[in-house]
Amino acid sequence: MTRLYSISHQYVEYIPEHLLPGVLYISKRFRTASHLCCCGCGMKVVTPLNPAKWSLTDYGPNVSLSPSIGNWNHPCRSHYFIIRNHVRWAGKMSQRQVAAVRQRDHIDVERHAKGKNVVAHLSEIFKRWFK
Ligand SMILES: [Zn+2]
Repeated sequence: MTRLYSISHQYVEYIPEHLLPGVLYISKRFRTASHLCCCGCGMKVVTPLNPAKWSLTDYGPNVSLSPSIGNWNHPCRSHYFIIRNHVRWAGKMSQRQVAAVRQRDHIDVERHAKGKNVVAHLSEIFKRWFK
């Protein structure tokens, strides 16, 4: 599997059923973004765009997604940041860290009463690490 180090972005009305690797599909209408895991494993990663989940910053030629993408539920357990269309790889998390993030995510989801998602996101601590 080949890791990607950059990704392009594409605004769409509907997220297509079949995604191309290396493309971040963004639907403003449905407030969500989707891409195939940047490790090359082919898993679809869904990142809802709302205050409890991810935020997208559009710089014009490129975009950032925050916080990082942590695919704990996928076999690859990839963890990376999408910053201005660059994929910045981060270390894999330990079971304990994953559990902590899941716990926090659970609380966030309850707080914001938003539906289920397959991807968890990182704590403030990890965001600070990579600043
Ligand atoms: Zn992967």
